[in-house]
Amino acid sequence: MGIRDIASFAAGHWVPPGSGAREIEDAVTGNIIARAGDGALEVAGMLDHARRVGGPALRALTFHDRARMLKALALDLAQHKPVLYDLSFATGATQADHLIDIDGGIGTMLVFASKGRREMPDGHVYLDGAVEQLSRSGTFLGQHICTPLQGVAVHINAFNFPVWGMLEKLAPTLLAGMPAIVKPATATSYVAEHAMRIMLDSGLLPDGAVQLVSGGLGDMLDHLTCQDVVSFTGSANTAFKLRSQPHLMRNSVRFIAEQDSLNATILGPDADPGSPEFDLFVTGIHREMTAKAGQKCTAIRRIIVPDARVEALGAAVTDRLRQTVIGDPRAAETQMGALVSQAQRRDVLDKAALIAGEATALYGDPGNFAVQGADATRGAFVPPMLYHCPDPDAAQQIHEVEAFGPVATVMGYRDLDHAVALVNRGQGSLVASVITHDSQVARAVALGAGAFHGRLYFDNRDTMAEATGHGAPLPHMVHGGPGRAGGGEEMGGIRGVMHYMQRTAIQGSPDILTAIGGSWVPGTAPVSKPHHPFTRGFHDLEIGETIRTASRTVTLQDITHFAEFTGDTFYAHMDAAAAERNPFFPGQVAHGYLLLSFAAGLFVEPAEGPVLANTGLDELRFMKPVAPGDAIKVQLTVKKKTKRTEDYGEVRWHVILTNQDDDSVAEYQLLTMNRY
Ligand code: NAP
Repeated sequence: MGIRDIASFAAGHWVPPGSGAREIEDAVTGNIIARAGDGALEVAGMLDHARRVGGPALRALTFHDRARMLKALALDLAQHKPVLYDLSFATGATQADHLIDIDGGIGTMLVFASKGRREMPDGHVYLDGAVEQLSRSGTFLGQHICTPLQGVAVHINAFNFPVWGMLEKLAPTLLAGMPAIVKPATATSYVAEHAMRIMLDSGLLPDGAVQLVSGGLGDMLDHLTCQDVVSFTGSANTAFKLRSQPHLMRNSVRFIAEQDSLNATILGPDADPGSPEFDLFVTGIHREMTAKAGQKCTAIRRIIVPDARVEALGAAVTDRLRQTVIGDPRAAETQMGALVSQAQRRDVLDKAALIAGEATALYGDPGNFAVQGADATRGAFVPPMLYHCPDPDAAQQIHEVEAFGPVATVMGYRDLDHAVALVNRGQGSLVASVITHDSQVARAVALGAGAFHGRLYFDNRDTMAEATGHGAPLPHMVHGGPGRAGGGEEMGGIRGVMHYMQRTAIQGSPDILTAIGGSWVPGTAPVSKPHHPFTRGFHDLEIGETIRTASRTVTLQDITHFAEFTGDTFYAHMDAAAAERNPFFPGQVAHGYLLLSFAAGLFVEPAEGPVLANTGLDELRFMKPVAPGDAIKVQLTVKKKTKRTEDYGEVRWHVILTNQDDDSVAEYQLLTMNRY
């Protein structure tokens, strides 16, 4: 295979590397396989292209349009998985590692696509929280809205997950409506570049939505403004260097940092050798040390076990590590491949030496280990290295030094408070796991260590068949951590999209809030139409369209009939004297569910039409009891419409039931599925 030129994609054109490009080695053979960087990039032009062309094109789409685009991109990438797998072997990754990086990245994009359609509106404004009543009679209200930032997101990614690392940032950015310039780590940029080519070739992305920098960013960060975002993943040192640039600080440019982390796992005091939890603990450590050869930001670096279990645990993990097949990542039997480069190998061995200053080696001699199917002297191979630190309170390095490879240290704890103190010595981590079958142990760790961790992962015999693993960041859940871990947050479902949007407090009249948010706010002038809304298709319905029904008197006979028919003979509906003793009721009252049924009877248009089904009620409140003789009526308003499929969409109706004095007796949101 020749040497591949890894290009950048700038302002619509591929730009080859320049004469000063960096050479990239195959992690397994040590051969030079690619070169990247030093291309003739005009960084100000790239930013301008993103801001002038990509941003407006993305913002013209709705959240749902962008979510559909993400889904199509992910499905297109999935078609090209074999070629991405093939390229990725050269990074030292095994087929199992590819499932994390390539399949995991595509899966993450699909989750954002699905959440975008389910949890965001088919519009341009995302509403954050409820309407706030800022005046006595409701003529002046408040609402928080989020709109996309009008700049560009600069993504700086780490080498270890060239596909997942790119897609987990791109998905929320594009869903928000913001263009991105992606700078992959050079060492694995040939995989990221290929994934980017697939996305660009798909024709699914608007012009300017994404660009790629292979190699250095030049002075790009010096041109960023308050509308731009830097989203960085990598080492703490690089993060510090970049985030402390005066230009970024002076302009309050958003800087999200995901950096290294001394993640830990705790064996609960209840988990004796022989218990399912003990075995689960050993399996988890083995997986975390060997997957991606330990080059995972979430990998377990510190293993915290009861003092009495140190020996048994050390022996059990050592036994598993001894059986691990290290070698050519292409071979099916290989369990652990190579580190990404010789430079990374030297770095890991240097860091392991620092740890060895405070701990004794239980397993792993870098000078003597078997490598199958590859040349151990040319490839960036290391063995898994397990240490035991006898005095974790006095030790420093084991809590501070991240050897970004298959390196972990076992340490003993006296009691749970001690375990919590040790886990927090990481000064902020992405994840800590606790393997326990005792919920009180879990609670104590959550209260004691939650503030130091972005994620806490609990697993035991009840969950192990389905649990997702200590090291797996999930698109639904927040990924990031305080302090040492960078202080950033990514993903977490729609929370992750908000990094690329501005939250704005809107204050004004109900009419103005409805017009801006696209969701009807009480107090907005009603819209009346000649025909019942149940007779008109989804697209014909107007937000704010309202009908008011005739009234219906509720009788004692209605109440007793409903009670006997349904079996709900609760005393407040049946026994006047008992009801009177209840502080909420004047006497015998109607069932809330009876009122809902009567409401439906009042507002429903019975003939077959575009309303297909009632799919639920939200935010139901009963405000005032209804006694026999009271008369109820209904106001039904179209609050919001959301397209769901090619054929139908969801209509959210605001329903208010009032009595003969116009007092509200119940209020809720009704959901129906309506044909277009
Ligand atoms: P790194 O050396 O800090 O590099 C990270 C990224 O920063 C690379 O794209 C790198 O580009 C770029 N970079 C370096 N100097 C730069 C500069 N002056 N200006 C602009 N960009 C610059 O980290 P790495 O070795 O790739 O990754 C390993 C580290 O990442 C580990 O510490 C690991 O814990 C951490 N990590 C964290 C997470 C997380 O989510 N928290 C995930 C994965 C990895 P070049 O490659 O071109 O130098």
